Amino acid sequence: MTLPTYTVWFRGYPACPCLAEWLPVYEAELQRLGVLSGSLRIYQLIGGASASAGTHSNGGAFDISDLVGDLDVWIARQMGADATWARTAAQGFTPHLHGVLTGCPHNAPARYQIDAVRSGGNGLGSGGLGGVDDGPRPLSGRTWRQGIEWAKQRQEDDMTQYADQLDGIDKKLDALLKGQDKARRQNAAIRGKVTKLVQKGSATRADLAELLAAIDNDTEES
Ligand SMILES: [Zn+2]
Repeated sequence: MTLPTYTVWFRGYPACPCLAEWLPVYEAELQRLGVLSGSLRIYQLIGGASASAGTHSNGGAFDISDLVGDLDVWIARQMGADATWARTAAQGFTPHLHGVLTGCPHNAPARYQIDAVRSGGNGLGSGGLGGVDDGPRPLSGRTWRQGIEWAKQRQEDDMTQYADQLDGIDKKLDALLKGQDKARRQNAAIRGKVTKLVQKGSATRADLAELLAAIDNDTEES
C-alpha cells in the first residue's frame, strides 16, 4: 500500500501525527495505573491487515496486542477514542485492543466506528452495528486532543499528591528525629547525675529524689 504524505514513523510503525502524539500519553496513563509495564505492543497503526477491512489505511486507528482489559478500553475512551474495543478470540480475532481517535482528520475510513459506538454498536459488521457495544460506558465524547489534556491533568494531580505525601513523611521524620534528640539529651543528664553519685560513694534520699525527678521530668532538658 502507498503511505499517505503526512505519514510519520512511530517506533517503526507508520502513523498519522495524531497517533504519534496520543499513544505515548495513553501508554504513560496505563503505566501510571499499573495495567501496563514496559511499552505498548503495537500491532498496527496505518496498515492494510486483511482483518481490518481497510479501517487502518489512512490513520487515526490503532491495534495494540494484549491490552484487552476493561480499564485499557475505558482509558482509551476517556482519552478521546470512544470507538475502542477489546477484540477477542470469540469474535475470531487474535486478542487485541482496537481503537479510533475522535477528531483525527486522518481517520475517514474508520469514522463509521465512532458513529457506531455512539449508537451502541461494537464496531463490527455492517456499519459497525453488527453487535452490541460491550463497554465500558458512558462514552467521554472527547476528541483525542481533549483526551491528552484529560490524561495529563490526572498525571499532574497524581504528582501533586505524591509531593504532598513526601512532604508529610518529611515532617513526621523531622518530629521523630527531634524527639530522639531530646531523649538523647535527657539520657546524658541522667547519666551525669548517676556518675556524680557513684563518685560521691553514697547517695542521700535527696540525691535519689533528684535522680528520680530527672528520669521523670521530660521538660528538664528541653
Ligand atoms: Zn490523525
